[in-house]
Amino acid sequence: MDHESRSPLKTRTIVAQGFGAVEPVTRGLVSPIYMSTTYLRDADNGYSNGRIYGGSDNPSVQQAGALLAALEGAEDALMFGSGMAAANAVLQALDRPMHILASQGIYYGLRVWLEDVAKRTGHAVTFVDTSNLDLVRGAMRPGETGLVWIETPSNPLWSITDIAAVADIAHAAGALLCVDSTVSTPIFTRPLALGADLVVHSATKYLNGHSDVVAGGLATAERNEMWERIGRARAQIGAILGPFDAWLLMRGMRTLHVRVAAQARTAAKLASRLVGHPALSAVLYPGLRSHPGHDIALRQMVGGFGGMLSIRVKGGESAAVAVAAQVELWKRATSLGGVESLIEHRASIEGAGTPCPSDLLRLSVGLEDVDDLFMDLVQALGVTTGSFGRL
Ligand code: PLP
Repeated sequence: MDHESRSPLKTRTIVAQGFGAVEPVTRGLVSPIYMSTTYLRDADNGYSNGRIYGGSDNPSVQQAGALLAALEGAEDALMFGSGMAAANAVLQALDRPMHILASQGIYYGLRVWLEDVAKRTGHAVTFVDTSNLDLVRGAMRPGETGLVWIETPSNPLWSITDIAAVADIAHAAGALLCVDSTVSTPIFTRPLALGADLVVHSATKYLNGHSDVVAGGLATAERNEMWERIGRARAQIGAILGPFDAWLLMRGMRTLHVRVAAQARTAAKLASRLVGHPALSAVLYPGLRSHPGHDIALRQMVGGFGGMLSIRVKGGESAAVAVAAQVELWKRATSLGGVESLIEHRASIEGAGTPCPSDLLRLSVGLEDVDDLFMDLVQALGVTTGSFGRL
């Protein structure tokens, strides 16, 4: 359902009003939470209202899916119990064991799962630096590669992959392209318009935006056989979202535009102010001209470069952990995309074997004042240069 093409209104308007829906009993502007239930069968043994069972047919969950479809300009979208559940459904829906090509830098949990489960179920997986198109071309196995999985900007170096170029390469080899667009959000990038077949979100992050829901979303360019299988996989593996979480997610998505625009503005200011800090060896943010993916990001991220950045601390792992220990305003916690800013030593949470540099701190920028966030970081960075203390 392409809402923009059917309506003269912008997606932003449609999403802010939640399709302008009015609750029929009270004429309330906010939809009630439709509890999980089972639905009454007609006397003629049919289900004339199209709903059979809470697992797949819950109106609150469907409303959240419709908003995600509007945001992504998708033909359809489905909500899941988590981002990982949405990813799992894609793999479950592949019709045979095949070769999967994935970005080297992807969310670590997904990388471990791809290596573990996918290989045990007969898939072959190759990880490549998908920001390098020659490497992508070289790693494709025409006739064997069935799925290309990219994340852009990708955790935690925020490498940028050219979605349109990789879509062409994937399609030429007969493979589907699935883009994890959790970090970019549909506000900055619309992967389906750039040629991707599927978009996956950890809706836990920006789509919900308030760190109080775990959810996943998948959006599709086409309602095809693969999409049918994904829908069945969701029911078969029970990867459903509860109605209360779906309702919170709806509320979050209605303010997505303003939240992520503000987060991206603050992240960009922090990145440029942190460049050259004596305690840092690198600031990684796609909005910086020095970032290797900046030119492609300029093309495929419209209106901002997202709210995620990373810093690499001189003095290695112990210095990075010491900096994280000293912040007062930033919260030391995993996850991203909420209204409060988070700082995380990624190597610690990823554990042995992580490709994440041990001197790296990942920053998820929230909605606080940019000067407050900057000062808190600068006082914490002072621990490595001996100038520790509140400024
Ligand atoms: N994709 C990205 C980019 C993520 O950061 C995460 C979680 O951190 C996931 C997917 C998995 O999402 P969830 O935690 O909702 O299962």
